[in-house]
Amino acid sequence: MTASIATHILGFPRIGARRELKAAVEAHWQGRLAADELHCVAAGLRARHWAQQKAAGLDFVTVGDFAFYDHLHNVTALFSAAPERFGLGGTVDLAGYFAMARGTAQQPALAMKKWFDTNYHYLVPEIGPRTTVKLDRGWLLPEVREALALGHQVKVALPGPLTWLWLAAAEPGFDKLRLLSLLLNGYFALLSELAQLGVRWVQLDEPVLSLDLPPDWIAAYGVVYRELAGAGLPLLLASYFGGVAEHAAWLKRLPIAGLHLDLVRAPGQLDAFLADWPADKVLSLGVIDGRNLWRSDLSRALASLAAARATLGERLWVSASCSLLHVPHDLAQETRLDPRIRSWMAFAEQKLGELAVLKRALNEGEAAVAEPLQAAATAIEDRRNAPSTRRDEVRARVAALNERDTQRQSAFAERIAAQQAVLQLPKLPTTTIGSFPQTAEIRAARAAFKAGKSGEADYVAAMQNEIRFVVDRQERLGLDVLVHGEPERNDMVEYFGEQLDGYAFTQFGWVQSYGSRCVKPPVIYGDVSRPKAMTVEWSRYAQSLTSRPMKGMLSGPLTMLFWSFVRDDLPRREVALQLALALRDEVLDLEAAGIRLIQIDEPTIREGLPLKKADWPEYLDWAVRAFRITAAGVRDETQIHTHMCYSEFNDILPAIAALDADVITIETSRSRMKLLEGFAEFRYPNDIGPGLYDIHSPRVPAADEMSELLQRALEVVPAERLWVNPDCGLKTRGWPETEAALKTMVATARAARANL
Ligand code: GLN
Ligand code: ZN
Repeated sequence: MTASIATHILGFPRIGARRELKAAVEAHWQGRLAADELHCVAAGLRARHWAQQKAAGLDFVTVGDFAFYDHLHNVTALFSAAPERFGLGGTVDLAGYFAMARGTAQQPALAMKKWFDTNYHYLVPEIGPRTTVKLDRGWLLPEVREALALGHQVKVALPGPLTWLWLAAAEPGFDKLRLLSLLLNGYFALLSELAQLGVRWVQLDEPVLSLDLPPDWIAAYGVVYRELAGAGLPLLLASYFGGVAEHAAWLKRLPIAGLHLDLVRAPGQLDAFLADWPADKVLSLGVIDGRNLWRSDLSRALASLAAARATLGERLWVSASCSLLHVPHDLAQETRLDPRIRSWMAFAEQKLGELAVLKRALNEGEAAVAEPLQAAATAIEDRRNAPSTRRDEVRARVAALNERDTQRQSAFAERIAAQQAVLQLPKLPTTTIGSFPQTAEIRAARAAFKAGKSGEADYVAAMQNEIRFVVDRQERLGLDVLVHGEPERNDMVEYFGEQLDGYAFTQFGWVQSYGSRCVKPPVIYGDVSRPKAMTVEWSRYAQSLTSRPMKGMLSGPLTMLFWSFVRDDLPRREVALQLALALRDEVLDLEAAGIRLIQIDEPTIREGLPLKKADWPEYLDWAVRAFRITAAGVRDETQIHTHMCYSEFNDILPAIAALDADVITIETSRSRMKLLEGFAEFRYPNDIGPGLYDIHSPRVPAADEMSELLQRALEVVPAERLWVNPDCGLKTRGWPETEAALKTMVATARAARANL
């Protein structure tokens, strides 16, 4: 009889199947729920999630993955490493924890950044020469005691010291590794206490191992793990989101008790580790996808585990690729989803079930789980053959794409001249990014229509009313290029997804984005196509109200891709091309309807960037191609705009230029036009609209602030190439500040024009 293998997970979603944590945390912020009651809700959720893990036969429950806001921020609190500017004194209490996360009247919040290539955001620790580290048990030990008291075998999971440090922001000139020994003392003290409590394992997450780390950081791993090994607890070092094969040699020598590999992202790395894997170490293989909501091909997973099992015996552990934080809780709640599509999916709870099946198959033989294995195989097979997942005409169209489909008719210089001949815009033309304030009435009208409480005619009338209002306001403000205001859109991806074939929508498929904020990404399950025009009637109506040019407004193929759960049975690049073709048809329909400018929003182009720079060119190649296919079908006279926000672009400027949009509008006001300097140095060839004011706050900037920013822009971009616009859409703003700010913006542009 072969020895038995263990199963575990790296982490579980914390928000609750009904977003209980969101409700409780927000109630606490509003003063409606006391801190002890909030702790009570949290303990209830943890107890439930551990019970689910135990019921699935996992060998340990994972403790430490819970957080009121963010797990990286928990480490900051656990080691009392708050930046001085918050004046919290020695340790971080719950109020201080939230103050850093959300900001105070005196202090802006800690910065937020995307957790690797996910849509989860972590709070960036701030460190410098005066940072101190002091273990504050209260941020972890009570949870460990809770789990132990419930009778669980406990594996504690925490971000590792090098990941926390790498992700921290350092004061200028401060070498982050200088904090390492202090931090190690903290981790060491913590591990010693956990050992005394009876914790079985500690998992230290080091996802930064999948990035391009400099040699001194790689070298630091030896120091860190040799030191921590002395604390007397078996350590599992967890890598994920990418492969770590290039580190295999030294990882094998590290004094850790186990290593976790993400075999979903990097299946090829297994061989490098199976070869002479040390006899005293566990290898944990992540074969269930922690990043997506599809059911696993369990037979295939078992086949890939067979060799590992033969080599490792009971040193093989089986897991999901990464924490289940990135998938929704429970598919069982999705009663409105098409049952056939639902049968192809697995949320976090269902993934626990998959691990249970794998464990029994490995320990008792596949015959013991013949039924669930068969069910999984049937679902995979059904998905593969379902007509909705495979449309031959869509595949054929993608296959037939050629270079010509990515090319506009003429080069930019000729196009812009042809466009100007039609549009007759003044220098420094003014425009906005698309949305105008989404008032309570607009939301109510949309909700009533969606719920079937109002008819289509009423709904269309309400939206047209709003469009009329928005067009009239823009004319009065004197803007040069108008928009219809996007009142019909709840969200820039969902709105289009709902009108495209190949998309499905869940009811409770929430995943945490940051703090209490969750998103419910649509699901691309099949080949994407556009049954009919999506935006044309709104744009046509808006254009009919004015003699000024109306800009059509679409979300781009990359944004549609990255803000959705995407099918895993087709390369993402193929899905992007399908989306591009569907949107290309929309672009052409808008043009045919007399719309002379069309904006294709791509705020997310950076989101698809692979973790390792060596993989960037391949991604950027298909990303640029998808955008160009969307845009390139139009005549020279039709002006293509794109818009990007939230990001730095300097390292991908060649790709941004390769999009070849006639006009790009970008968020620049918060960086005080710094971002624009990169474009100028690169000699970005086409028109640019750098945002003149930040739309994230209700503050109306003074006229001289805006004109100073515009002057800076004029210093680096020739006036003929420059547009004037806000940073982003205005949907989260109110009307009074919107009108005041736009009035100033138009006046600023006019004054500058007079001086040209
Ligand atoms: N057109 C969109 C809007 O104005 C753009 C949104 C975005 O960039 N995220 O709302
Ligand atoms: Zn934007």
